[in-house]
Amino acid sequence: MKFYIKHLICFFYLSFITSVYSADIVHKSNIDFIHYKAEITPDFITKSIEGTVEITFSPYVDNLDHLSFSVGAKQVNAVYFLAQKIDFSVEGDLFIVQLPAPLKANKAYSVKIEYKVSETRGLKFYDDHLFTVYHTKNWLISHNKLSDKATFDLSIKHDLTTTAIGNGTLVARKKVSGTQLVSRWKQNTPIPLYTFGFAVGEFEKHSMGTSGVNISVLYRQQIKSNLTADLINKAFADTADMLSFFESKAGFSLEQDYAYVVVDGYMAQEASGFSLVGEKFVHTLLNDKNENWFIAHELAHEWWGNSITSANFSHFWLNEGLVVFMVAAYKQHLFGEEAYRDEIALALKRIQRAVKEKRVAPVAFRKVIEEQDINRTMAYSKGALVFYMLREKLGDKLFWQSLKRYSLTYKGKSVTTQDLKSIFEQVSQVDLTAFFTRWVYGQKIPTIDI
Ligand SMILES: [Zn+2]
Repeated sequence: MKFYIKHLICFFYLSFITSVYSADIVHKSNIDFIHYKAEITPDFITKSIEGTVEITFSPYVDNLDHLSFSVGAKQVNAVYFLAQKIDFSVEGDLFIVQLPAPLKANKAYSVKIEYKVSETRGLKFYDDHLFTVYHTKNWLISHNKLSDKATFDLSIKHDLTTTAIGNGTLVARKKVSGTQLVSRWKQNTPIPLYTFGFAVGEFEKHSMGTSGVNISVLYRQQIKSNLTADLINKAFADTADMLSFFESKAGFSLEQDYAYVVVDGYMAQEASGFSLVGEKFVHTLLNDKNENWFIAHELAHEWWGNSITSANFSHFWLNEGLVVFMVAAYKQHLFGEEAYRDEIALALKRIQRAVKEKRVAPVAFRKVIEEQDINRTMAYSKGALVFYMLREKLGDKLFWQSLKRYSLTYKGKSVTTQDLKSIFEQVSQVDLTAFFTRWVYGQKIPTIDI
């Protein structure tokens, strides 16, 4: 399904030799996935979800005759195109939809798929709550291209005793029987597919009383979680301050309310409009106020990751390294200089451990790499260190101006390392080619005193 343009790769390769490195290579696809509409029913007894997904897409090329998706642990029951049942096949991990006639470029079409999926890597069931885990393709029939954002309309049928949360805004809650209701969530701004998600559970709800964007926390009853409204209020007390800190650095506010869903165990995973955080982390934070990284980290992803998204895994540090750095910057704002330096020193320590274990790689790549090829220490920790070094190099004023310009320019879009470099160069009027070649595209590890 993906269209790899080999001749362009060669072109770029040759141009690297003759000129200054000027572009990052980005995957091309022959389909634009636009919108997903899903209606699902989770079953806590069989630990599965069942339902339909209607996928709206537009081919970039004429004569598209099939679609293919990862099947994983999903079972496909039927596929419809223009309300007619059509053929499909499963070959290895590929689920292939045969379109009845070749499609035209730049027109919107949709297919509707009936499917069922049991608990896999994509779903985590407990007896009183369930939530989705990366990747979306593990629980929803969907494409898996990082830069192809889509809107989402999700209806979840669940027990009246439970609360459901999805992406975007809750637009309807409708009782459908004596024991069940349907909650419908709509995400109208396109988001990366990995940020699609939902949670259902016997949650209590606590509002943090923020102005503008509402932040709420869903958590399990005290008997299960050892958490009370007072403890939640204490643990999440800084969320309003975090929100305004990140808003001021990005230059734009969130467009929808935000929620934390506190789930069993250790978990720190962003979705669009909410995040899943583990009870264990909340208890750690209640014992040590410095352990607030997960609350800040997941919220920061609303700007860097969910809105401004790395075009592919070669530029993953633009999601993660930047967010790790922003957590350090927030700690500096909240606790002072030492907390900032401690956070950066921790990143450096992780890098040094990776060097010792010979796990070294560049922070970003000019070629396209796949998810399994990411070196997480380099993307997260060295990525954060690169932002720290950029700040030291440019000074506070130019650094934060550049970051704001970058954030506003790429709001809702996908980015490459070169996009970031160009904006920082434009704003600062400093040539950063040598800096990026050495510290970002190169494997060199700085020896700095923090
Ligand atoms: Zn992250």
